[in-house]
Amino acid sequence: DRLQLDGKVAYVTGGGQGIGRAFCHALGEAGAKVAVADLVLAKAEAVACELRLKGIKSIAIAADVSRPEDVQRMLATIVDKWGTVHIACNNAGINMNSPSEATSLEEWDKTFNVNLRGLFLCCQAAGRIMLNQGYGKIINTASMASLIVPHPQKQLAYNASKAGVVKLTQTLGTEWIDRGVRVNCISPGIVETPLIHSEELKPLVQCWLTDIPAGRLARVTDLQAAVVYLASEASDYMTGHNLVIEGGQSLW
Ligand code: NAD
Repeated sequence: DRLQLDGKVAYVTGGGQGIGRAFCHALGEAGAKVAVADLVLAKAEAVACELRLKGIKSIAIAADVSRPEDVQRMLATIVDKWGTVHIACNNAGINMNSPSEATSLEEWDKTFNVNLRGLFLCCQAAGRIMLNQGYGKIINTASMASLIVPHPQKQLAYNASKAGVVKLTQTLGTEWIDRGVRVNCISPGIVETPLIHSEELKPLVQCWLTDIPAGRLARVTDLQAAVVYLASEASDYMTGHNLVIEGGQSLW
């Protein structure tokens, strides 16, 4: 079965909740050992614990992906524990909202530090190990916002950073494939999170729904098979690809 991940070592950044947590479960259920990395150690530990309860080998690591020393330590911990890394899910990302004329330099820098600098650091550090062994799968989390400008959000820094994720993925994906390392990204549409059911967000959700041909928001379960596919041998001929999972929203 070419979708099996038995014997593979994976990590997921931002694995402590949301999409990252769902990725951890999916990779673990497909057979991989999973290092759950998050800015907040307690969240990573909770997810690692959920995985171990399912019989999946898992560790938790505290790491801020925007800090080179944290990224180095994350990979050293994984290599120390399991010998190497085969699957890198660079998923940590942040999202802020402001009219562009009021976007502060602080918001811009923070967004780019996590969403793009963090991704560069993780891709490079994991990539070096993967190039050395002649095998690896890197899966970055981009966003539908890399393709369209989701209405009515005001997310200049976020949208620009996610477009950057796609170009970084394309560049690495073509540069490294002849040495056995594939780099792809997943672009989710708007994902249903607990926050979305708040009274405050109700009008916004109604507005989004009119933009989505599928008639509903995405669920993390809509993304899980995609990460397993991109992590597995079944996708060996894919690289630099942006796998868009948005219920058709980017086409309307
Ligand atoms: P989330 O906010 O629910 O979870 C993000 C996790 O990342 C948190 O556990 C947080 O502690 C961690 N994190 C934040 N900054 C970090 C850092 N510097 N280093 C390490 N970990 C850090 O987010 P989510 O909705 O699950 O989104 C995950 C990814 O998917 C992000 O890249 C996001 O941009 C992208 N995305 C989300 C949506 C959506 O609708 N939720 C849509 C498209 C793309």
